Parts: sequence; C-alpha cells; structure tokens
Amino acid sequence: MDKKFYFQNSQDLKRFFRTKIKELHPDRGGDREEYLKFIEWYQKALNKINKKPLIKVLKNSFPEGNFCYRIETFTVKEVSLGLIKKFKLPVRERVCPICKGIKKSPSGDKKICEKCNGKGFLNLVNNSETIQLKCTFCEGRGYLFTEICPECMGKGKIKEEEVLEIKLPYGLREGDILFISGELFDSPWDFYIEVNLEPHAHFKLKGDNLIYEAEIKFYEVLLKDYILIETLEGWEKVPSEVFKRGEPVIFPRRGPYLSEDKLWERGDLIICPKITFPENINEKAKKLLKKIVKLLEEEKNGG
Ligand SMILES: [Zn+2]
Ligand SMILES: [Zn+2]
Repeated sequence: MDKKFYFQNSQDLKRFFRTKIKELHPDRGGDREEYLKFIEWYQKALNKINKKPLIKVLKNSFPEGNFCYRIETFTVKEVSLGLIKKFKLPVRERVCPICKGIKKSPSGDKKICEKCNGKGFLNLVNNSETIQLKCTFCEGRGYLFTEICPECMGKGKIKEEEVLEIKLPYGLREGDILFISGELFDSPWDFYIEVNLEPHAHFKLKGDNLIYEAEIKFYEVLLKDYILIETLEGWEKVPSEVFKRGEPVIFPRRGPYLSEDKLWERGDLIICPKITFPENINEKAKKLLKKIVKLLEEEKNGG
C-alpha cells in the first residue's frame, strides 16, 4: 500500500477494512497481491490494537526512552471529532548519502592529514619488516575534509521522513501530548506530539464543551428567520427566535468527543450570542428608528 493508515480502536479499523477490501477485491478487478497484502496488514493492525493502544492521549507525562518530540498545530475540529490527520515524521535514520557518514562535506575545503602527512598510509616496522597500514584518520585519502556536511549538519546520519495518516484519539486538548508508538511503523523511537491548537474564528474548547461566540446584529434577530451558526458538522440554520433572550443556547452532545474510554460521549456545543449594535448611526437612521419604535409601541398599546 502506498498510503499507510493507523487506527487506535478496532471499530474504526474494521469499518475502514470493510470499505477498502471491496475496492481491492480481485473479483472487482483488483490486484491479487495487493489484496492479500492488505488483509495481512489488517490482521496485524488488529492484533496490535487488541494488545495495547499504540496511539494515545497523554495528559501529564513526559517522554521517556528513545523518542522524537514535536509540536504540531491542530484545528479545533480535528481534536473534537478525532479526524484523520497527516503527520510528516522522521521514522528512520540512515547514513547520510552525501558524506557517507564522515560528517564533513566531500565537496568542501580539504587539508593534509597530519597523521600520515598526506600519504594515506602509515609505516609500521615489525621485525625489520615494514608494513604499510591504511591511515584510519583520513581513511587512506591523505587529506581531511574541513567543512561540515550541509546535508546532515555534521551528524553523519539523516532522518527519513514519511507522511503518516493517523486517526486522532478522542480527548486531545491544548497542551496534551499525542503519543504514537514507533511500533506502528517499525521506527526505532516513539513520537510525542504536543498539541498546539489553532485559534478558530468562532470556536473555543472549554473543558468538555465547545463554546461558540456568535456575533449577531440586533436587527438580524428581528428580521431574519434564521441565523447561520457554524457547528462541528458544518453550518446550520438556527431560528432567530432562540437568541431573543440573549442567553446561551445549548446544543446537547454536539461538542467534542470526550475520550477513547467513553467512545460515543460528547460534550455540548454552547452558543453564546453577542448581540451587536452599530457604533454610530446618522441622524437619518436615528429618525427612522424612532419611527419604528413609535410604531412598535402603538402596536403594543393596542393602537
Ligand atoms: Zn552528511
Ligand atoms: Zn591520514
């Protein structure tokens, strides 16, 4: 498979398997080898999930062992709904292809090797016999490179990055760490990804709930039948009527998913209307407004 998918609960994995396997089936023109590989992958993935969670949310713990630490930006929607997110992560280390591990740039400046005086070998006298040994200091070249390899920044090794698609576990919040075990893609280290939440124009996560600050113009409440409100599932029409009291409007269980232990539990979406008024209105508008107020009062007094 060219793409790799990772899931941390078996329901999601099974659902993915059922759709994908239909596409890959040889009876439907799929490649037989691909099909078998996919099944094998699925079984392994399922085994792994059943043993222990390889992707999890860490609230208050620090990396240990061999690890790679990253800070990544997540959207409120991604963490609230546990969406599939792409990460470009260094999964493996290999010898630098430019300097072949010597840490210095092979196209940069050189200097004569002082150990062998530029000969590339050392004379070793043994029982009046002279043996020539390759100089290990310069690897027999007779000279040394002096500039740091720009490819590996002098480390001699480079990290191979791979784009991984991870189904985010529920319950991730700002400052939490998303733990991804290296076992998932045979990496020698685990990944600790700190969550940096991207500020959203309207949404804010607060505890288990999602707060939506809705700026509504005073006349919209009176003139419009509906106000468009953004929810995690998209834009929705909410009757203007409910905003007339100016109090928060609660959409139960429309907030973020809470955690992997409580799979289908969600917090609430709380819409806080902020009725806005124009900062300045001109005399003409003021006169018209007064007329409207008069009309409304007459109506109220049964006139
Ligand atoms: Zn290098
Ligand atoms: Zn040498």
